[in-house]
Amino acid sequence: MSDKKLHPETLALHAGYRNDETAKSVAVPIHQTTSYQFDSAEHAANLFALKEFGNIYTRIMNPTTDVLEQRLAALEGGVAALGVASGQAAATFAILNLCQAGDNFVTSTDLYGGTWNLFANTFKQMGIEARFVDPADPESFRSATDDKTRCYFAETLPNPKLNVFPIKEVADIGRELGVPLIMDNTAAPLICRPLEHGAAIVMYSTTKYIGGHGTSIGGMIIDGGNFDWEAGGDRFPTLNQPDPSYHGAVWTEAVKPLGPIAYIIRARVTLLRDIGAAESPFNAWQTIQGLETLPLRMRQHCENANKVVEFLNNHPKVENVIHPSIQDGEAKRRADAYLDGGYGALVGFELKDGLDAGRSFIDSLELLYHVANIGDARSLAIHPASTTHSQMTEEEQAKAGVTPGYVRLSIGIEHADDIIADIEQALSKC
Ligand code: PLP
Repeated sequence: MSDKKLHPETLALHAGYRNDETAKSVAVPIHQTTSYQFDSAEHAANLFALKEFGNIYTRIMNPTTDVLEQRLAALEGGVAALGVASGQAAATFAILNLCQAGDNFVTSTDLYGGTWNLFANTFKQMGIEARFVDPADPESFRSATDDKTRCYFAETLPNPKLNVFPIKEVADIGRELGVPLIMDNTAAPLICRPLEHGAAIVMYSTTKYIGGHGTSIGGMIIDGGNFDWEAGGDRFPTLNQPDPSYHGAVWTEAVKPLGPIAYIIRARVTLLRDIGAAESPFNAWQTIQGLETLPLRMRQHCENANKVVEFLNNHPKVENVIHPSIQDGEAKRRADAYLDGGYGALVGFELKDGLDAGRSFIDSLELLYHVANIGDARSLAIHPASTTHSQMTEEEQAKAGVTPGYVRLSIGIEHADDIIADIEQALSKC
């Protein structure tokens, strides 16, 4: 195919694959295999020495996963990607690829709870410090940075507050100080392109919108190829110092002939090799099926969400609606600066009658599923105060943006009238 810049709708169907060399199959095949036959002893040796690229073992690479990686890298405007077993594995690798014991990274406080635990507890056990700062003030990232800071981390569209992260503001501070920004873009695929705003790395839980059908857990890390790791010198010892696990290879030098892919190659050939959180080929294949219709689905998700927001905004039992489309001030400015083609499909609202109303709303839903997930083609709902945030005190909940009557909706792609009718009948019972 020519190098002409293709649109996302086209890339989602074509990037990374034309047809299978043997059977000529048009659909991406599932390579459900653990290992690959080497052509000769020399071929095997070259693959292990990274003198030649090719398949060795599915813990490290797989042709089906490779299509998903290439497709997402193309959609995101990155240079290469790494598929892993889950979004959690993606966040783990994204950080561990730069941080060692004694190092720190600065992260937004507005995070998915699983990521929060990983950063605050598991990384702490490894001697890596997560420095949590308020994303409302981009300068807080600068203040928390020292010479052991290896990266910044944030979510584009974190719930429950749904305040879009100041991507360019923080990426610019990072570039001034030589610190790369890693963005978790799980809630905003296609409608936000963090690399265009200065982020260096993008990660996803592909479990959500990208897979889109609630069938397969998966994660992806995309290397923007736009960060000068070599210039960072001592700030990036994992990339600029000899790696004892690879005959002393210095990744920024060893990978140079292949392009600006030192970060992602190192994640694959050391972290994925050693930790083994590989994506199953079947899950990669399922995720590809989802990805092929992502542009259509995101449009419908966002359109439906806008209609639900309008309905809730006019409902007498609703105190407040939370969605980037109806924010004001700086939050709205950021939403408009960083989201394009929709404001996302996560919608929060607060019921006037608090906790009991929240629980009875959830119990009265007939079409919307009650699950702790987002980004499914089906519409989903949860009442955080009695579930995901129930271990917190009311004060802690309030800080996280969860009031007793707060309900989180993940609006799907059913007909908007049917979604609204179900919400309306559930509201009539609470
Ligand atoms: N990042 C975000 C924003 C999420 O919402 C989630 C899961 O809910 C994750 C990461 C973790 O992804 P996974 O469940 O695929 O491990």
